[in-house]
Amino acid sequence: MLDEHFSGNKARKFYYYLQHDFPHISNIVSHGSAQSNAMYSLSVLAKLRGWKFDYYVDHIASYLQENPHGNFLAACQNGMHLHTETMPAYYHDNTLFIPEGGRQRESEEGIKRLAAEINDHYRGKLIDIFLPSGTGTTALYLQKHTDFKVYTTPCVGDGAYLSQQFFELEKDRAKHPLILNTEKKYHFGKLYREFFEIWIKLKQETGIAFDLLYDPKGWLTLLTHQSIFQNDILYIHQGGLLGNESMLKRYGRKFHENY
Ligand SMILES: *Cc1c(COP(=O)(O)O)cnc(C)c1O
Repeated sequence: MLDEHFSGNKARKFYYYLQHDFPHISNIVSHGSAQSNAMYSLSVLAKLRGWKFDYYVDHIASYLQENPHGNFLAACQNGMHLHTETMPAYYHDNTLFIPEGGRQRESEEGIKRLAAEINDHYRGKLIDIFLPSGTGTTALYLQKHTDFKVYTTPCVGDGAYLSQQFFELEKDRAKHPLILNTEKKYHFGKLYREFFEIWIKLKQETGIAFDLLYDPKGWLTLLTHQSIFQNDILYIHQGGLLGNESMLKRYGRKFHENY
């Protein structure tokens, strides 16, 4: 709801770079997967600011290279320069380096704004907040700035990894979100029938398309732990819908179903 092309939690995390002046900057460098939501949002940011955007990937699937779609296609159309060679260790002063997935303190500003919107909307009420985590940056800064308890689940790595990510941004454990998990272990980016099934069910019952990478694990966790929530739950939809195009293609190929 922020902007058709700059939305979801990545827009919140990169809000800082849209708001402030960077007179000496002329390009952005980042890295990660060739289908990431962060990559797409950075391509929009670079376009809005007139910056060049260099993005480094370890690997690009031949299917994606031959049939560009989703975040990858959109980022290329925004002028992203894709590199498969090793990322240089040093950059000129005119370069802004953004770590994978936006795991950085600069993300706090935009998420603080989101927290203020939530606090305003639910003033005088008690709610619990739930959202699935990757780097955990969104959940951590939401916990810091909202008046409510934040619950999350790790989608990349396990609970110990997520807890470690929280410690890198906040030393006080009492200020961390509460980590919940499913009994079964899931690997990030892999396809699971129960993920696809809950995604379809949510779409049919609520009319809302959720993201296919993080939200299925999020909802399975939420439903597993329903009894621990004391209040109504605010589930944060973090965007990522453009990335669904490639996930739906992969699910279609795997389970031979078309959506
Ligand atoms: C990036 C992303 C997340 C994870 O955000 P973190 O701040 O890295 O925890 C969750 N959902 C969607 C749709 C995302 O794009």
